[in-house]
Amino acid sequence: MQLYNSLTGKKETFTPADPKRPTMYVCGPTVYNHPHIGNARPAVVFDVLFRLLEHRFGAAVYVRNVTDIEDKIMAAAAAEGASTEVISRRYAAAYHDDMAALNVLPPTVEPYATGHVPEMIAMIERLLASGNAYLTEGHVLFHVPSFPGYGALSRRSREEMIEGARVEVAPYKRDAADFVLWKPSSPGQPGWDSPWGRGRPGWHIECSAMVEAHLGITIDIHGGGLDLKFPHHENEIAQSACAHDGAPLARFWLHNGFLDVEREKMSKSLGNVLLVRDLLREAPGEAIRYALLAAHYRKPLDWSAAGLARARHALDRLYLTLLELPEPATEAPAPAPFVAALEDDLNTPKAFAELFALGRAANASTDDEERRALKGQLLAAGGLLGLLQQEPEVWLKTTGKAEIDAAEVERLIERRAAARQARDFEEADRIRDQLAAEGVILEDQPGKTRWRLAG
Ligand code: AMP
Ligand code: ZN
Repeated sequence: MQLYNSLTGKKETFTPADPKRPTMYVCGPTVYNHPHIGNARPAVVFDVLFRLLEHRFGAAVYVRNVTDIEDKIMAAAAAEGASTEVISRRYAAAYHDDMAALNVLPPTVEPYATGHVPEMIAMIERLLASGNAYLTEGHVLFHVPSFPGYGALSRRSREEMIEGARVEVAPYKRDAADFVLWKPSSPGQPGWDSPWGRGRPGWHIECSAMVEAHLGITIDIHGGGLDLKFPHHENEIAQSACAHDGAPLARFWLHNGFLDVEREKMSKSLGNVLLVRDLLREAPGEAIRYALLAAHYRKPLDWSAAGLARARHALDRLYLTLLELPEPATEAPAPAPFVAALEDDLNTPKAFAELFALGRAANASTDDEERRALKGQLLAAGGLLGLLQQEPEVWLKTTGKAEIDAAEVERLIERRAAARQARDFEEADRIRDQLAAEGVILEDQPGKTRWRLAG
């Protein structure tokens, strides 16, 4: 199995330290509002990796936390006139509902930050004792220059890091890059008693302490969105290494790319934030999941209504194929080329192409034995992606027929041609691969590109 390791900038062969128990930690949501479609991307991507690890190694331990104490939650609580507990409980439940609708499995363990404050305090005490942290004006800060490996993950210069972190410039900091491990709480704010007075943990120490509590010193895989690479993951690495005599926090670091909406960055100011709960009113969760997996996880994903419709249409066709096939006699394994695509750094576009090839073979076959076997393979492959597990009748009855927007496909073909003209072959391939995963095959001919449906 090959995974791209952000730490080395290379695809590497992945073997867990304990071959029977791969360990993975993914930074979970900060629960202060409803998850948007960008938040769903890491949840779905790492859910596929979780399924793949279990498939390959027999079992896996997947920890995804809930950040239920953070300044943004306190701000939401103040704005809504509720306590932080009420806010975080409400939005953790909303997150669970929405992710379940996208067929995201619960992780093996889902720790809450507020359930691990003693472990955080213990880790901070160790960092103070080792000289990596200092107490100043009620705050405990991590002293960045005390960890020479700082910046290795994001490969940033010191100037870029200070600029990028937008870290608070505070007069009591020994170094501009130093970050908070513990801060004081005023009487109205949530807080815990600590050796440094009543206060609360900083965000970064939460993950380091929860990794240690549930998975130990060095884990196999640490994941999250690209935006977390710096400063959050850089800070996690520094805290954990310094608290563990230099032992690394994780062997592999995986980051999913960002999701834009109709070619624009999703932002409150643009008013284009798409909530999962709203999308679920328009499309089945399975189609949303499909659309999230149609791009390779490391590439940017341009979310669009037309892409979601193509994902629905692709599922319509796969379910139609399943509907026509006789039931398999026994459970079949997922076919090797399909598994190989996923084990090649989670190449979901390629895996979808293999799914369509199976569907095509099944549609063409007149041999009942073979048709049974192909149905078994389609179901097993779908299971690894968290797709195709409904009764075909149910899918086909409940969803209504999705149509492909031909004009939109033509526009994408034009965008691809422009990218090729500009010698941006990566973008050109990204568009081609995503369309192929959505069941639209491009055929280049002299001077023009035609398209047809896969299968
Ligand atoms: P947050 O709750 O803000 O900490 O974010 C939860 C997860 O969603 C993190 O792993 C983020 O990196 C990820 N995330 C947030 N916005 C996007 C986006 N537009 N595209 C992809 N991932 C995102
Ligand atoms: Zn984290």
